[in-house]
Amino acid sequence: MPARPAPPALQSHLPEEATAAVIAWFDRSGRDLPWRHPDASAWSILVSEIMLQQTPVVRVLPRWQEWMRRWPAPADLAAAPTAEVLRAWDTLGYPRRALRLQECARVITEQHGGQVPRGLEALRALPGIGEYTAAAITAFAHHGRAAVADTNIRRVLVRTLDGHAHPGPALTAHQRALTAASLPEGREQSVRWNQAVMELGALVCTARAPRCEECPLRERHCRWFAAGRPEGTGAPARTQAFAGTDRQLRGQIMALLRKGPAGPEAIAALDPNDPERVRRCRGTLVADGLAVEIPQQPAAGAAGEAAGDTESADLAGGLRLP
Ligand code: SF4
Repeated sequence: MPARPAPPALQSHLPEEATAAVIAWFDRSGRDLPWRHPDASAWSILVSEIMLQQTPVVRVLPRWQEWMRRWPAPADLAAAPTAEVLRAWDTLGYPRRALRLQECARVITEQHGGQVPRGLEALRALPGIGEYTAAAITAFAHHGRAAVADTNIRRVLVRTLDGHAHPGPALTAHQRALTAASLPEGREQSVRWNQAVMELGALVCTARAPRCEECPLRERHCRWFAAGRPEGTGAPARTQAFAGTDRQLRGQIMALLRKGPAGPEAIAALDPNDPERVRRCRGTLVADGLAVEIPQQPAAGAAGEAAGDTESADLAGGLRLP
């Protein structure tokens, strides 16, 4: 590890010199991502923010590109069949986000003339848009001055200003204040700062293995580094084992449904040892609006010989996309 500098004085915000250094680092080292291009539409930026909430950039990129090709404006997504939207979500995970995005597209189309609205209040009134996302859209899509408090930014600020290792899972009032106080006054500078510090947290000041030797804040502005990087409380939980979880089985059922309607046998075969788990996951997918029950068909023979339709008999009690 690099030599340890003297700790900076306790302060409530990063000085201008520090924000300028982070922006300069971003200009040299930030990733060239399509939703950061000057010609990216507000809608494309909104979609990227929702996709990136729980999915890494490398998996989001191809899906985002396909979504923008198919549904370049909110009205396009609003008019799309929901089953197609869920198919195009593919394996991004947490597919309720796809449903929320389509609801969001419908509200933008019907109530905002097809334009992503401006202002934190109007944005937060959209389906699926919370405090963080509204601020991010304001900053990145509308080039407004907004304090964006995502996990990466909070991590950089609590390390540099508080000397703590981790920001904890939830945004606190104190962190909200740090984020607001560190935001440069100038509008354009504030937009660049949000992008730059978020990227620093994503690439350098990472949760588990920060690369302080590459960090422009190391020498003079980071209390945690100067203190020798003490471990603290609030470390992010180790990623929960995925195998055997309901989330895994829900994903497997959705993968099946993306190919077409699925009969009960095919669904049950995904976990033949735990029919209760299968029943539970089927139920939550239907409750979430991600799948629709195919009505039980009368048993063969009971409905007369109308059951010449073998396909619907096969699908009795199955599921399909909405
Ligand atoms: S010096 Fe290390 S801990 Fe401090 S902000 Fe930079 S990467 Fe993060």
